[in-house]
Amino acid sequence: VNAAVPADRWDGFVIDLDGVVWRGDEPIPGAADALGALVARGKRLVYLTNDPRSARAHYTARLRALGVPASAGDVLTAAAATAEFLRSHEDAGSRPTYAIGSSALKDELVAAGIELLPHESALQAEVVVVGGHDDFHYGELRAAVQALRRGARLYATGRDAVFPMPDGPWPGTGAILAAVEAAASTRAVVIGKPEPFMFEAARSQLAGCRRIAVVGDHLEADIAGGKRAGLETVLVLTGNSRREDVRAAATQPDLIVADLAALAQPTVRAEHSVG
Ligand SMILES: [Mg+2]
Repeated sequence: VNAAVPADRWDGFVIDLDGVVWRGDEPIPGAADALGALVARGKRLVYLTNDPRSARAHYTARLRALGVPASAGDVLTAAAATAEFLRSHEDAGSRPTYAIGSSALKDELVAAGIELLPHESALQAEVVVVGGHDDFHYGELRAAVQALRRGARLYATGRDAVFPMPDGPWPGTGAILAAVEAAASTRAVVIGKPEPFMFEAARSQLAGCRRIAVVGDHLEADIAGGKRAGLETVLVLTGNSRREDVRAAATQPDLIVADLAALAQPTVRAEHSVG
């Protein structure tokens, strides 16, 4: 008989990637083995990331390279969710759209049938989409702001100001979005976490599970967002939020563990949060 592990309270998990499974290019020690152990215990897993810089297939391949049994449909990204949201909320994606973001984000938008404008035609945009990417430049900011000041509607893949990297936090989608919002004097509709859209997609993917927990490293994006979407939550301390941040947080996780390994191991004592 298997010894009980903290994860046994749940049969379905929505697993955040950045700060939970890896930080930048570095896998978090024990995370891949823990995910394998959860699958071996019969848990169902869906992976969910706000990182808009890469395609779903890229994250699936990374998980598989670490030895995690993941298939293409198991990964949900904010980029893909944003494309789907626009397809269903903006006239089937027929409105001319200007996007600040990675080629992966643009590929998702095009795949959803959205008409993407080249940089030179950005003023004609009726929709502007913002996702963080490494090649962000002032010209994109200017084009987006001018389109928005002419009445375009603003969407973003997320609002996380930073994302965890081995050498410390890097500016993310939220930092670029803040610049766009400040200059355009408007506020975006956000599709990624902590908003409910992706959590709802994850939940429908886990249909049939009795109890589902979001596992994440970010008190707002994962814990508060997951709670608002009606899910239970597990905070891991390998990424954005630290133990001392928890007491000040408005929303408390249902469980705090040092890392993903502690969720799947009987030998490590998990700590239940108070309050
Ligand atoms: Mg994270």
